[in-house]
Amino acid sequence: MNWTDIISIQSLIKLVDFAVVWFVIYKLILLVKGTKAVQLLRGIILIALIKLVSVWAGFTMMSWVVDQVLNWGVIAIIIIFQPEIRRGLEHIGRGSLFVKSKRENKAAEKLISELDKAIQYMSKRRIGALMTIQMNTGLEEYIETGIDIDADVTGELLINIFIPNTPLHDGAVILKNNRVAVAAAYLPLSQSNLIPKELGTRHRAAVGISELTDALTIVISEETGEVSITQNNELLRGMTQEDYIKYLRDQLIKDDSEPEHRNAIVTITHFIESHFRGGKSE
Ligand code: ATP
Ligand code: MG
Repeated sequence: MNWTDIISIQSLIKLVDFAVVWFVIYKLILLVKGTKAVQLLRGIILIALIKLVSVWAGFTMMSWVVDQVLNWGVIAIIIIFQPEIRRGLEHIGRGSLFVKSKRENKAAEKLISELDKAIQYMSKRRIGALMTIQMNTGLEEYIETGIDIDADVTGELLINIFIPNTPLHDGAVILKNNRVAVAAAYLPLSQSNLIPKELGTRHRAAVGISELTDALTIVISEETGEVSITQNNELLRGMTQEDYIKYLRDQLIKDDSEPEHRNAIVTITHFIESHFRGGKSE
């Protein structure tokens, strides 16, 4: 590497630096356009100009005064614009998180509607089914026992998998991250003697997985068409369409009114607020 290379790298870095700074300024102007912060921005630009001129002309006294204005100005701006800053920070925090959880909730709604389609179809025709949804505990151990599918969840696919006397119908479907991970998986059988005698191994398997993990399992009985859900060691039998949809929504859809991230930002803004107002927060 010779000198010209080093110089060109340095000028490239300078160029990127320059571009980033102007991009930020441009965004800032767009942000404050039409608000009372415009006057503020004008004031800052004016002060910066005075500073430049006084440095250039060698007015040391003027330069010193401008420095003081700039130093104290930052604190003054934080105090004056405290409500705006606070709202801005809260907006940033809420914005990103809301978008994310909104997207997740939309995917969960789709999952529930596809499950509902499959459950209705299979329950009416007494097609036996066993579907486990991974929650927080990983289900790799059980996924390994199944046959790979890795497909979007659709009612049609789920129905097709459980049609009797087809290669994939025996065993459990495992859903992970809103996808059908595998079919024909083997779930651990529960040894519990609390399970009613009329229920066989499909239901035992559903209870079994709920004893070992936090997964949510839906069972459709081949004998009666009854829909049951197991989770956290509980077996909920005879669920109506309304019941299971409510249960699934409660478990899979996040209430995004108070995300943790937002709380953190509120805490930070409260801290700033109490600091500059001597502890007088709302
Ligand atoms: P149904 O009311 O549908 O008859 P059941 O609880 O009486 O259900 P069985 O009649 O024993 O259960 O159902 C057997 C089916 O359950 C098997 O064909 C298989 O598909 C499934 N099954 C049984 N054991 C397991 C297991 N350990 N893991 C996954 N699936 C299982
Ligand atoms: Mg049976």
